[in-house]
Amino acid sequence: MKLLNLRLTNYRNCKNIELDLDCDKILIIGKNAQGKTNILESIYLLSALKSPRTSNNIELINFDSEKAEINSDIIKADTEVELGYVYTNEKTRELKINRVKSRPKDFKSVLKTVLFSTSDLLLLRGNPSDRRDWLDRAISQIYPAYDDRLSKYDKIRIQKNNFLKDLAKGNTFDETLLEVYNEQLAITGSNIIFLRKKFLKEIEKTAKEKHRIISETEELKIDYDCSFLNGETELEDIAAKFHESLAERRIEEIRRCQACVGPHRDDIIFYINENEATKFASQGQQRTIVLALKLSELDIITDKTGDEPVLLLDDVLAELDDIRQNYLLKSINDRTQTIITSVDTVLFEEEFLRGVKIYKIENGAVKQASFREAPT
Ligand code: ATP
Ligand code: MG
Repeated sequence: MKLLNLRLTNYRNCKNIELDLDCDKILIIGKNAQGKTNILESIYLLSALKSPRTSNNIELINFDSEKAEINSDIIKADTEVELGYVYTNEKTRELKINRVKSRPKDFKSVLKTVLFSTSDLLLLRGNPSDRRDWLDRAISQIYPAYDDRLSKYDKIRIQKNNFLKDLAKGNTFDETLLEVYNEQLAITGSNIIFLRKKFLKEIEKTAKEKHRIISETEELKIDYDCSFLNGETELEDIAAKFHESLAERRIEEIRRCQACVGPHRDDIIFYINENEATKFASQGQQRTIVLALKLSELDIITDKTGDEPVLLLDDVLAELDDIRQNYLLKSINDRTQTIITSVDTVLFEEEFLRGVKIYKIENGAVKQASFREAPT
């Protein structure tokens, strides 16, 4: 899978950009605040239909404009597909595949990306919701129906919370509706947990290997942390435990007016040599885990879908030491398309630079540069 080009119109500070991306490695060089992340964000948006930085899409529109536009021609399984995305300050969104209006679900299934940015390096230190978001996004690129299950679960959970609040206010006294919500939550929720556990098992296998190569001796382990599970992996067992836990926590849920158990509360725990990484691992060790995870995510999506995702590396090389930089650059060497941003070219060897398309970005405007002109 490859982006052939990218056209941005009034997208953040990129008022009018046209990039020829018909190359396997693209390097976008620019000082801080020039628009490097904006370009990668726009590509990510075409694949996920949500920005990694904001949930308020109005922010994507250039300050002086009324709508932001992203267009791109993509090669996928030897077929060219044109994606068009428009967002207006009236909060309307228009999605087009080959100039024909498309449903979000179809649109999202075209382009696959794996974004690796400096904030991902904090994945282990972040909140459980950051780790769940990473996991959910990776799974939804493999099983598009997973997104529907997540939305369905969230919808029922919100309805249940509202019902519990009504119950507390005395607006209703009929508790039977709670059973209905719980039944639906247990069915949808156990499905989500089942897929998450399955994906984590798969990614653990690949990530363990990569992690051992980078760290030389250390052993990575990944666990799905769910309050009511104790090693169960079968869907029926997960559903049974979920039911049991909902019954046990019923009084607490009524008292707290919220759903207290389920996949919206779960977490992922990483261990190095049996020690919990969040508590004991150094910053470098935590980065090694994230690097191994991101590269494994790429492998798994490729394996499962037959489409190799476009890898977006936002400023991440500068944050890694020599060993990890070399490992990353070696791993991307024979991959299809990788788009890298950096403030300069010092981290890259001349041989690497000769084979890449280099763009310089300044104040939201890009121009192509040869490796000799690019700032070092
Ligand atoms: P860094 O190296 O610091 O990460 P960057 O090149 O990645 O910098 P971006 O995050 O892409 O920079 O942001 C570039 C600029 O875009 C910032 O100066 C920001 O103020 C500007 N910007 C963000 N949103 C908008 C918008 N809606 N309209 C105009 N400019 C915007
Ligand atoms: Mg940036």
